[in-house]
Amino acid sequence: MIDLLKECEGAKQIAISGHIRPDGDCVGATMALYQYLTKAMKGVRVEVLLETPPPVFADIVGASDIITEKREDTVYDVFFVVDSVPDRIGFAYPYFQRAKKTINIDHHISNEGGICDLEYIVPDASSASELVYDLLDKTYIDTELAKTIYTGIIHDTGVFQYSNTSPKTMRIVAQLLEYGFDFPKLIEETFYEKTYLQSQILGRTLLESILLMEGQCAVGVVSKKTMEFYDVSSKDFEGIVNQLRIIKGVEVAIFMYEQDTLNYKVSLRSGGRVDVSKVAQYFGGGGHVRAAGCNISGTYRDAINNLTAQIEKQL
Ligand code: 5GP
Ligand code: MN
Repeated sequence: MIDLLKECEGAKQIAISGHIRPDGDCVGATMALYQYLTKAMKGVRVEVLLETPPPVFADIVGASDIITEKREDTVYDVFFVVDSVPDRIGFAYPYFQRAKKTINIDHHISNEGGICDLEYIVPDASSASELVYDLLDKTYIDTELAKTIYTGIIHDTGVFQYSNTSPKTMRIVAQLLEYGFDFPKLIEETFYEKTYLQSQILGRTLLESILLMEGQCAVGVVSKKTMEFYDVSSKDFEGIVNQLRIIKGVEVAIFMYEQDTLNYKVSLRSGGRVDVSKVAQYFGGGGHVRAAGCNISGTYRDAINNLTAQIEKQL
């Protein structure tokens, strides 16, 4: 285990970053670490360098301090990479490269480590938020910090539904609930609630989805044209891939949207028989056994053919 406060001793400038297109766990883990360090290390400049999180996370304490682009060439004394490998942090990467000390806190099985000075990479952990909790001096936890970690955990466990939820996860959650916050509201507003437009795009994608491999694989695609027509972005697709995965008989779900012309961002979900992190890694991406992603160039037909060839190998 890493002694966070000891590792930050003497530091004047600290940065915290996470992966591009941050999800609930990424936002929860980075913001929990931010709240903790600003509270425990008075007088130290702590900055979160992260792409703008989805609007549902705007109420997290400190979210308005997030730096979403940067021009100064700050050299940080300590740089944390949370819920990601270092080369997936987007605009923050040059700052990572210049930092004096680097620390990686992650739970992706595809993260092979060996890049940062210090690492806490635990693929069995439910979430990066759970790992941040592990490393905290618990006396600094307050209601807002508890809520922030809780938010991260519910997002990466699908509200305690996925197999990454362990007895330890639930023990941590029990500790967090002691702080007393409106968790049903938090779950509804950050996890389940969708705008009307998001519901429409979900409906349309399901309606147009196709089943392959005798119903074991479901595929949903959103083209650039459709994104422009509905005026939606990647933030509006959260949950679509899970909806495809829970179709009866489906072992692997593929959701892709056209990020750039003839370049698809792919999300993969598995019921457990297929290790989709391996499939994603084959295409230069990564993730977990049951949830992973990558980018694929070409037409969507090519992308589907290439992906299903890799999936079929495992089935
Ligand atoms: P999602 O499908 O929700 O975007 O991502 C599922 C999981 O795979 C997340 O843990 C995410 O961090 C990871 N992931 C998604 N896309 C990529 C990628 O392009 N590269 C890597 N290394 N991981 C990814
Ligand atoms: Mn995560």
